[in-house]
Amino acid sequence: MQLIVFGPPGAGKGTQAKLLSSYLSIPHLSTGDILRSKLNEKDEISIKLQSIMSSGNLVSDNILNQIVSEKIISKECNRGFILDGYPRTIDQMNYLNNYILNNNIAINLIINIFVDDLTIQKRILNRSKIENREDDSIQTIQTRVNAYNLETKPIAEYYKKNYHSVYYEIDGTNKVEEIQKKLREIVKNTNFS
Ligand code: AMP
Repeated sequence: MQLIVFGPPGAGKGTQAKLLSSYLSIPHLSTGDILRSKLNEKDEISIKLQSIMSSGNLVSDNILNQIVSEKIISKECNRGFILDGYPRTIDQMNYLNNYILNNNIAINLIINIFVDDLTIQKRILNRSKIENREDDSIQTIQTRVNAYNLETKPIAEYYKKNYHSVYYEIDGTNKVEEIQKKLREIVKNTNFS
């Protein structure tokens, strides 16, 4: 089964995707996590990535398209995957649409977790204290929210319109356990054939 989890920064999509990943025993493909792990390599590319990510801007579509396309056809994903943080631009969405078509991969569920801007700010600031993520500072929150509203929100609209039978919206301000419960109900009611 193949899932896409959407939502603005701080919506809790990573938390929910992780829980769903262990429930379904399929990998959680967080492009943010994959990119952060590349930062440890300390080569030329990672220095560039570091500066883009710490400013809250988006990394180039080519890099993301390559990372995701390699992952989703890998052995690790032969029972499915949960995409978290991708696609994030129209270009990525078009790339993914073509790629899954050419590789005979179905998207079974698209989950959009929504939260208001004030909750996003509070959550990210709180997370910055716990996880010490460089891109969780007050200066970058606005950049990341703007990038989401400008680049990513239109994708959710596209999916809502064109994938309406597999598209669900979930209120991300509810408790983690409640959201997870709802997600598992949706999964149980989904035909994965
Ligand atoms: P996240 O952990 O999903 O909030 O991602 C952290 C950062 O990684 C983002 O602010 C971007 O700089 C970068 N990033 C993650 N996923 C993508 C993507 N699909 N496209 C472009 N940049 C991304």
